[in-house]
Amino acid sequence: MKHFWVLLSLTTFLVTNSFAQKPDKPTSAELFHEIQKLNFLGTALYVAAHPDDENTSLISYMANHEKARTVYLSMTRGDGGQNLIGPELRELLGVLRTQELLAARHMDGGEQRFTRANDFGFSKHPKETLKIWDKDKVLADVVWTIRQIKPDVIINRFDHRTPGSTHGHHTSSAILSMEAFDLANDPNVYPEQLEQTTPWQPKRIFYNTSWWQYGSQEAFEKVDKSGMVSLDVGTYYPELGLSNNEIASMARSQHLCQGFGRLTDRGSDMEYIELLKGDMPKSNDVFEGINTTWSRVKGGEAVGDILYKVEANFDFQDPSKHIPELVRAYQLLQKVEDKHWRSLKSEELKNIISAAAGLYLEASSASASTTPGSKATINIETINRSSQNVTLKEIQIVGADAKRTPNKVLGDNQKENFEVNFTVPANTPYTSPYWLNEPGTLGTYTVNDQSLIGKPETPSAFKAIFNLEIDGVEIPFEKSVVHRYSKPDRGELYEPFAILPEVTSKIDEKVLIFADSDKKSVQVKIRAGKNDVSGTIELDHPMGWKVSPNSIPFSIAQKGEEISVIFEVTPPSTESEGKIEPKVRVGNKIYRDELVEIDYNHIPKQSILLPSEAKVVRMDIRKSGEHIAYIMGAGDNVPESLEQIGYQVHVVDPNDIQNGDLDKYDAVVVGIRAYNVVDALKFKQPVLFDYVKNGGTMIVQYNTAGRWAGQFENIAPYEVTLSRDRVTDENAEVKILAPNNSLVNFPNTITEKDFDGWVQERGLYYPSQWSSEFTPILSMQDEGETEKQGSLIVAPYGEGHYIYTGLSFFRELPVGVSGAYKLFANMLSIGKDEVKRDNNVKG
Ligand SMILES: [Zn+2]
Repeated sequence: MKHFWVLLSLTTFLVTNSFAQKPDKPTSAELFHEIQKLNFLGTALYVAAHPDDENTSLISYMANHEKARTVYLSMTRGDGGQNLIGPELRELLGVLRTQELLAARHMDGGEQRFTRANDFGFSKHPKETLKIWDKDKVLADVVWTIRQIKPDVIINRFDHRTPGSTHGHHTSSAILSMEAFDLANDPNVYPEQLEQTTPWQPKRIFYNTSWWQYGSQEAFEKVDKSGMVSLDVGTYYPELGLSNNEIASMARSQHLCQGFGRLTDRGSDMEYIELLKGDMPKSNDVFEGINTTWSRVKGGEAVGDILYKVEANFDFQDPSKHIPELVRAYQLLQKVEDKHWRSLKSEELKNIISAAAGLYLEASSASASTTPGSKATINIETINRSSQNVTLKEIQIVGADAKRTPNKVLGDNQKENFEVNFTVPANTPYTSPYWLNEPGTLGTYTVNDQSLIGKPETPSAFKAIFNLEIDGVEIPFEKSVVHRYSKPDRGELYEPFAILPEVTSKIDEKVLIFADSDKKSVQVKIRAGKNDVSGTIELDHPMGWKVSPNSIPFSIAQKGEEISVIFEVTPPSTESEGKIEPKVRVGNKIYRDELVEIDYNHIPKQSILLPSEAKVVRMDIRKSGEHIAYIMGAGDNVPESLEQIGYQVHVVDPNDIQNGDLDKYDAVVVGIRAYNVVDALKFKQPVLFDYVKNGGTMIVQYNTAGRWAGQFENIAPYEVTLSRDRVTDENAEVKILAPNNSLVNFPNTITEKDFDGWVQERGLYYPSQWSSEFTPILSMQDEGETEKQGSLIVAPYGEGHYIYTGLSFFRELPVGVSGAYKLFANMLSIGKDEVKRDNNVKG
């Protein structure tokens, strides 16, 4: 696997400036591939909604076969959804998926862009999506991308004509792309953008159709394809030693947090794109009729005259022989007026010159991070591995006003090292994803700097510019400052060089539930961003809450070290919720950030600063019972949440349970999708039903309809049919159908108000039919849909109770929604009121 990574990271070394860490070291064949790309002046934009939507085969085909600049615009960063490799969710998952997309593009040769749209969760219809996203903002961002990238062709992943047939985000991406195609060239549309860019009219827009749109391969074969362009995306690239689909598979396998690790594909493979607007190409060339040669640009022909010759006569044994011609072409290119092509092609050409000369230019820090006001040392390494005349005139650190002027000839294969020392300016911005710096809305991130919008990541604070004179011409080469180090078990490693606060703080438990007025101990961790940090820490809290002590002094000797302090937090006697927020004072400065690090082998390490806080909720919650058995399904945090309100939760392995084992528990709760992923459940169902028959309570949370582990169908002791019914509007009105049922009365009284403040959705995969033994408790519906009554159904069975619920407790409990807690406590307490009444009678 490691082998593929190294190999592939070589193939696409020019388009990877944003993937700044590991330097690319191309072979001469790969360099030739890049010169071919340099000589193609055309651009393709691929548009979809999420990380993993993109067709990497088509992106790689455009980048490596057509040799076009190819950009994937993903509306969102994939913040919703699940993470198969670690704990990151929501915004942090968006950061991880952003990096996975960059890793994928690093392989398939594409570039990556985003809008400000947030992946807020499943959406049934583009009407809802566009309302929550704030259509005008996201459309502005698509127009902005088209104006900046200037694509000749746009390819939509999804069909704009079929709303409701797929995720609303998907259809919306296509709708916005179609609208932006018509708007981007109109100077009256988003005129404020034109201070930084120019209008642009793409020539053609396509829809990337596929056989599954038509139900089957056979059905698709019969479809009239006269309006479609067919492309064989299985083509082989001898200079890379890879098939296009091999590259695509490996790019796709970067989406590890979504479980997209795949086998590689080879062989001929057809893709079809349907023309939506523009003229139909007569051949299968999407750029037909578009000038993609150097003559497209005023003053470009002279540049092309040189570069086409380099391509035709390329010397695979010694590419450095082409340096004088490449440098001449660079000189001519600087005179081209067209800023768009001049800067784009200058970057490509500089990378080619650097690779042809075997240049290695690095600016690295031995330490992983620094703080504003600290001293920093940047190590510079330069080497020229050719006989060409190369002089290192000057090294300048952008962002720090520091430079050195060696003015030194770089002899063939003679390494030169320098140090640049400076004080980090006090106003240097911290390293953190730019779109998380300000609070956003449910649908969009807030980004105030227009020039940042669309960028995949925050530009690094420090860049080194190496001013080299090559064959008499001065050329600046820009490199981000990185942290380079080694680990005995992993070899040489590169990471971003981070600018961090002097001190950060963190409360591990993000939601603290106070089920009564007892105080709780709250641990706060303090981490030093530099050596010898001391100060005090306080805990801001809502009105009516008490925190003791007021302030705790601390002192930390080592950078990176973390210490803990404990506060006692006492809730008020009545219901209340709010935030506790650590406030750290060092000298006259106050620090309120938490540092989160995301560190996996397949992406560069990410440092994210978020407000340091935890939610505190005082709820008047009553409960019966004490010991709960929990059978884990696909994974949820419900056990931890139940412990917060005083239950003792025992996670049990269904393989181990025998008749009678469960009798000691007040209830057995089955985790989300357990019947989809836990094979043992199909054998243990009789044991569970016996437990209910003998007086137990069994609560089954949502399972995906039709995807059983094995052939198991019997999820309940009576007939139940699961469906794909879901209510995605978290504010959808809830009606109580069975007001006298114990589930809405004991021990907590549940009213419509308990459904306020829910997040993301009401629930999913509700049963659509059930036998007469069941009582449906609640009714709800999404706008424009029929009433759904299956979110919570209960039936007596023997002496006990069986409950099935598709309500999203797994989302609501971890964020402290008090109504969800009360309803869950009632489910766990079912049947206990009768016992109490019996006891009362006896007593
Ligand atoms: Zn998607």
